[in-house]
Amino acid sequence: MSEARGHTYTPVELLARLVAFDTTSHKNNLGLIAFVEEYLRGHGVASHRIVSEDGQKASLYATIGPADEGGIALSGHTDVVPVDGQDWTSDPFTLRAENGRLYGRGSADMKGFLAASLAAVPDFKKRKLKKPIHLAFSYDEEVGCIGVRPMIAELGKALPKPRMVIVGEPTSMQVVDAHKGPVRWNVNVKGRAAHSSMAHLGVNAVTYATRLIGELERMEAELKHRVIDVRFEPPYSTLQVTKIDGGTATNIVPVHCSFVFDIRALPGLRADEIEDRLRRFAEMHCLPEMHAIAPEAGIDIERVNAVPPFGAEPSSEVVALALKLTGQNETFGVSYGTEAALFQNAGAPSVVCGPGDIAQAHTADEWIAESEVANCMVFLDRLGAWAET
Ligand SMILES: [Zn+2]
Repeated sequence: MSEARGHTYTPVELLARLVAFDTTSHKNNLGLIAFVEEYLRGHGVASHRIVSEDGQKASLYATIGPADEGGIALSGHTDVVPVDGQDWTSDPFTLRAENGRLYGRGSADMKGFLAASLAAVPDFKKRKLKKPIHLAFSYDEEVGCIGVRPMIAELGKALPKPRMVIVGEPTSMQVVDAHKGPVRWNVNVKGRAAHSSMAHLGVNAVTYATRLIGELERMEAELKHRVIDVRFEPPYSTLQVTKIDGGTATNIVPVHCSFVFDIRALPGLRADEIEDRLRRFAEMHCLPEMHAIAPEAGIDIERVNAVPPFGAEPSSEVVALALKLTGQNETFGVSYGTEAALFQNAGAPSVVCGPGDIAQAHTADEWIAESEVANCMVFLDRLGAWAET
């Protein structure tokens, strides 16, 4: 692709290129990664792939400026949510401009930020950066911040570790310094089957599942009153059962029941605490009765995914920097999860700030305002000037 050799694109042209790669989370993203690599190479920037175990996806990490630790990373995910079942006016993977809006899957969440970051690279290269600016592009964010984890594990090893991180999820360029942490569990209850006329010989898995769900409901009610943080909507941690499946036939004592529950934890709430309480309840109020009839009966509680809640330190340098670069003086909390906590927990303090409105993310006819992309370019221009100092 000779076009990428040093070619300068406008942010909107870059966005059109990125949107054209169908990087729905369950598909591979290697086409997009190859394009970005080529583009960066054309501007004299080497990049490093971190490939997934199955080789179908990759993250990309690149450093502009001094090849050291420190500086700041611009973090974004390359994957998008599916368009299946959504009613789009035009092809979701062809960027369409209309009335100051750019329509396309991922335009807001979050290829707009990736496009702006890439469009800023020639400017970053021209400057005499004293602090490095790193690009950290991940995959599988939409299915639980999966792909960023192996990349973070390499920071300070194969990859230079940034001093701080800006995660460019759509915040309408407002400064977000806290978010809830989504955590999900699968629960499998194994009982013993019997003819339903001989119920006393069986262990009814559905019955014990409902007991566990009752305990979860009590916890949910308590969470509503425990920690209230009005910066979030709703202002408390939520907990709910989202799926349930059990039973075999109307005349059989059910041997199996499984359900899924999730929490959206405010900063400060530990997922372990919720899980420990459910395990204790199972051990005290379910398992003894179950085992009295069927020693093979059991309750399996498995945490399947956890994105930690995020809360920046009150004195956070990167929050202060983001406020300065956006010219704002107020920070916000949001209820959706991002990669910010994972970077922060790895020792790189983070902030969330990016173009586009989260309300348009994941929707049919997803769009980003052209003015948002332009605002992000101003932000990145100021960031470049900061990195020269
Ligand atoms: Zn996103």
